[in-house]
Amino acid sequence: MSDPLLSVRELRTEFDTDAGVVKAVDGASFEVEAGETVCLVGESGSGKTVACESITRLIPTDSGSITGGEVRFDGEDLTELSASALTEYRGNRIAHVFQNPQGALDDVYTVGEQVVETVRAHRDLDRAAAREEAVDLLDRVGIPDAADRIDDYPHSFSGGMKQRVVLAVALAGDPDLLVADEPTTALDVTIQAQILRLLAEIQDERGMGLLFVTHDLGVVAEIADRVVVMYAGKVMERGDVYELFENPAHPYTRALLDCLPGHGEAFDTIDGVTPDPTDPPDGCRFHPRCDHAIEDCRAGEQPAFEPVGDDHDAACVLYGDDHQPPLSFPDKHDD
Ligand code: SF4
Repeated sequence: MSDPLLSVRELRTEFDTDAGVVKAVDGASFEVEAGETVCLVGESGSGKTVACESITRLIPTDSGSITGGEVRFDGEDLTELSASALTEYRGNRIAHVFQNPQGALDDVYTVGEQVVETVRAHRDLDRAAAREEAVDLLDRVGIPDAADRIDDYPHSFSGGMKQRVVLAVALAGDPDLLVADEPTTALDVTIQAQILRLLAEIQDERGMGLLFVTHDLGVVAEIADRVVVMYAGKVMERGDVYELFENPAHPYTRALLDCLPGHGEAFDTIDGVTPDPTDPPDGCRFHPRCDHAIEDCRAGEQPAFEPVGDDHDAACVLYGDDHQPPLSFPDKHDD
């Protein structure tokens, strides 16, 4: 089998803060194949954004650093590259889209200048050809009258249209992998649906891998091929989207799904709060909030991954050799 487009192995990213060392990502492993959509899900503070930013080392260098693991992209370990070698990947082969389009655009320049500049940074085109390409890109991401609007400034675009412009900038380098961090969270649901559809179309056209960060399991169900569930810096469960939604194995994933309307009790929430990132609990990070915790969960390291289905594994002691989940793991979904 060929190597995945992106392979993140035992990634560790830490931040020095006044309160202590925050282990934002603590041994996370996941993969993205070419043409595939992988959703990283979890509550705020689970480490999903830092995991994405670590891929091309976008983390602030004054306080943050990658302290372990590898990020292999097309076979190359990006954590080992010099800053100048990494620029060959950033925006070119790997592009990022963030939640707030306003922060990604500069109000002093027209949207055209910003798209043209990116096109020219990645491709050997003169200004006229780059402008033509920029109009095509703006048209492709659904900006009406792109040839006229290219000379407008960002402030004259709505939030949804700005996010389309940001997407055009990200696509200008024709990336192999798009890392999109909650790109639709700030948008209303109809615009969100349009952007998601657009991403799927572009991905189909270009065979691009998509790593999509979200806390919205409705969005996950719509777009994901595979899902990676994170909690307190650790990956808890990974699997094919159908498999994971049909047979969620990890108690944290099940608790997240129970919070969805139509699942679990009405207005279900997960009791407790996410742990202090400077002093996470021993054992399973989820144990203080887990209804199924046993003594083994409270000491040592996060339990190792155990297979729980086809292309599906979970880091939970209930699936180890000493336990039989069907007996020890009451199924809330069958109530
Ligand atoms: Fe719950 Fe223990 Fe499984 Fe963690 S390892 S999810 S605490 S049962």
